[in-house]
Amino acid sequence: MSNTGNSAGSEFSVKSLQLTLKDKLRRSGKTFALKVMSKSGLADLVGRTYGGNGVILMFHEFTRDPKSKLGQGTRIDDFEAVLKMLRQSGRDIVGLSEAVRRLEDPKSRPFVVLSYDDGYRSNIELALPVMERYEAPAIIYVPTEVLTRTINAWWLGLREIVTRNDQVVVEPMNSRFECSEYSAKVATLRRLIAWVWEDFGRADGLQQVFKDNGLSMADLIEELFVSEAEMVEADRHPLVEIGAHTTTHRALRLLSAPEVSKDIGDNKTYLEGALGRNVPHFAYPYGRPSLTETREAAIVRSLGFETAVTTDPGCLFPQHAGNRFLLPRQDAEFPTDGFSHAVCGVNGVYRALASRGKSPIANTEFEQLASQ
Ligand SMILES: [Zn+2]
Repeated sequence: MSNTGNSAGSEFSVKSLQLTLKDKLRRSGKTFALKVMSKSGLADLVGRTYGGNGVILMFHEFTRDPKSKLGQGTRIDDFEAVLKMLRQSGRDIVGLSEAVRRLEDPKSRPFVVLSYDDGYRSNIELALPVMERYEAPAIIYVPTEVLTRTINAWWLGLREIVTRNDQVVVEPMNSRFECSEYSAKVATLRRLIAWVWEDFGRADGLQQVFKDNGLSMADLIEELFVSEAEMVEADRHPLVEIGAHTTTHRALRLLSAPEVSKDIGDNKTYLEGALGRNVPHFAYPYGRPSLTETREAAIVRSLGFETAVTTDPGCLFPQHAGNRFLLPRQDAEFPTDGFSHAVCGVNGVYRALASRGKSPIANTEFEQLASQ
């Protein structure tokens, strides 16, 4: 529903979004299908072709209550169920360097790598105690500006203003959103995030929107992300490794090649200074790095990294041992029925769907192009 209203003297389009019945049915249908796949053994069957030697799972925030985060974050109980399932299935949970070593050794055991992006404090407060129970290591990819408290964490700013307010004015969109109820808040947040993903340049204009809504981004960052001291302490834990995730967490496709090199290289230098060790692993912000497919992979390789991960779904195969700079990685952050999603992810179901039943091996073709 949309009409034109008047606010503070300007013409705004007033939007009163709701999750539609179709949207809810589509989501519950998908969840049901995944549940059937994971429980019936069909996912395991797909896994014989698409499961490869191992998989990298991606998480962000953990929470006891995804509803309090407008349907974002991984429910910590689901995370624990996933680790239990992985252990029972006989898969080892290993770090990234060990994963690469195993890809080079045809006789090695199947493995899973756990990865968390952005440096949320819940990685330490909620996930680490579970990891300790299952002796499961994980890598946390941290942008420098999380540590300096200057990052434009626009996705969290949007969530916060939509959570707090019954009405949200987003001037760069010329829109006012009515969102007093939970369903309207979820629908509004989805619409706003999709609007930024359509053009990441829009993220810059949101800083003023946050100010206009009385939100202190510095306070929000302080509340949700690890500090530098906490990161250094976490890195000393035998189950935690810190990885690189750029300085500013901007979409790399917006930047020139020298800017990309600086944004990634400065973060590597910063982290290595703070941690006192080499930082060999990198994750691209927002997944697929650029429109050219290969520009960032070449830059990351030249900066001396050992691996770089995307968010393209898929499992790892021996061919990835020589193509380590656009590694597929399976999104495992699903607030609803995260367990079934993870079972399907570990078995390469999403790659089977994305490739429409074609090659199980994601992204090796781009790297071969880059190295020519
Ligand atoms: Zn990120």
